[in-house]
Amino acid sequence: MPETDRLKAEIDELVPGTVALRRDLHEHPELAFEEVRTSGIVAQRLRTLGLEVQTGIAKTGVVGLLRGGASKPGAKTIAIRADIDALPIHELNDIDYRSTIAGKMHACGHDGHTSILLTVADILTRRKSELAGNVKFVFQPAEETIGGAEPMIKEGAMQGVDGIIGLHLISDFPLGRVGVRAGPTFASADKFMLTVKGKGGHAAMPQESIDPIVIAAHIVTALQTLISRETSPFSPAVITIGKIQAGSAFNIIPEHRQKLQRRIIEVASGIATAMGGSCEVEMIDGCPPCINDRAMTGVVHKAAVAAVGEKDVDHSEEVLSSASDDMAYFLETVPGCYFIVGAENAAKGANYPHHHPRFNIDEDALPTGIEVLARAAMEYLK
Ligand SMILES: [Zn+2]
Ligand SMILES: [Zn+2]
Repeated sequence: MPETDRLKAEIDELVPGTVALRRDLHEHPELAFEEVRTSGIVAQRLRTLGLEVQTGIAKTGVVGLLRGGASKPGAKTIAIRADIDALPIHELNDIDYRSTIAGKMHACGHDGHTSILLTVADILTRRKSELAGNVKFVFQPAEETIGGAEPMIKEGAMQGVDGIIGLHLISDFPLGRVGVRAGPTFASADKFMLTVKGKGGHAAMPQESIDPIVIAAHIVTALQTLISRETSPFSPAVITIGKIQAGSAFNIIPEHRQKLQRRIIEVASGIATAMGGSCEVEMIDGCPPCINDRAMTGVVHKAAVAAVGEKDVDHSEEVLSSASDDMAYFLETVPGCYFIVGAENAAKGANYPHHHPRFNIDEDALPTGIEVLARAAMEYLK
């Protein structure tokens, strides 16, 4: 059997197990840094495959190392990353593998990512003797709080790694399609808090007071001009004032991140001062953007074309997301590629947005994810 058919046949054989594990993880969601059951299952499965397993990295992270049998000194190591955490959302799906834990749900597809990567580990382990390099399987906790990637890197998860790949299943990207693109893909997300101070007074005697609400209203309007008047139409950016009393977030592409941060401070405090009040600005640096390396993107692109065919590989702007993902920290450490796999299928009710209580994926996306990751790793280690 040619390798292409052999791989597809193997995936067909393994996918029922992938689906069963995904459903088991879906029934037992665990929040950031609480993924004890999940990481226990991951570690046990990696050990069963005979990999070198490290647990407790960044509390609940797990790494499995597969040493290729055809490795020569100086052979490359590729990492493949999956995130394993769920969200504090109460599931409203009517499915027989619905979350058994009230208020917790896999509403982003990380259950799928975890079971995909374990299946990839199985497939690559079967090819151990042919692999001219090593594969590190990285199971990362706490993606949703942007908390897990950085400590995993600090604790050595990327040591000896030359490149990294990973995927996100996407519920508003059509089933059967793969999106892969060089350069920025997922945005950076920072938070800021503005505290506007005026002077209290009676509502009937406005001349006696300085109304912070009026000042805040002017600031909200003016901040929007940072996008409409000060940001290039070719450089996507968003400023959202989420709440007047609380914080808010904005997602921007990196070159403009610092400039926008500076301008938010200048505009907000300038307006408040001009109106007789004051404004304190607190900037909370969030996640950097995900930037895909050109060569690594080429490797994934080739794998995607082999898996789904050229016409179903998207490298247009459809692939860009204004959400952020802490895969960004891994991509800052080594060249890599983070790509998306379509899991949308309205006929199966899998068309709700991520983080929605009715979020679900079409599980037919799982074999596609497995195939692209496995092929890309083999291609990279050729
Ligand atoms: Zn998410
Ligand atoms: Zn996610």
